[in-house]
Amino acid sequence: MKAAYSGQCLCGEISYSAAAEPVFSGNCHCKDCQRSSGSAYIPAIIFHEKDVAVSGKAKYFRLAADSGNVHERGFCPNCGSQLFARFSNMPGMLGIKAGTLDDSSKYSPMLDFHVGSAASWDFMNPELPKKQGSARS
Ligand SMILES: [Zn+2]
Ligand SMILES: [Zn+2]
Repeated sequence: MKAAYSGQCLCGEISYSAAAEPVFSGNCHCKDCQRSSGSAYIPAIIFHEKDVAVSGKAKYFRLAADSGNVHERGFCPNCGSQLFARFSNMPGMLGIKAGTLDDSSKYSPMLDFHVGSAASWDFMNPELPKKQGSARS
């Protein structure tokens, strides 16, 4: 059976596939996501970690958010592509950054969140619900 979702980093050392549907999809506009991605926001998809098969070993960078929750960002140690995220307040879940999907059209965000931190040049789809808040997640 073909996996519903698959993707990889830029160099191909790390790849993943997920057979099940995600539990959440949304664009995070917090400052930490801007910094770590070098862009306006991170398009995040959250899966149950048990549904995701990962090949290769990502390196994780841990940072505590203002809330006290720890956010771990997983990237390829060879090419630096950001692929994964884990959250201390969401055990058993794995975030995947939608830009790494083989088929970009698989991503369909439900909302924009942490829009209070968004950059002035960040253009958002006006049709998506917006969640305020500027705290780092
Ligand atoms: Zn890589
Ligand atoms: Zn964020």
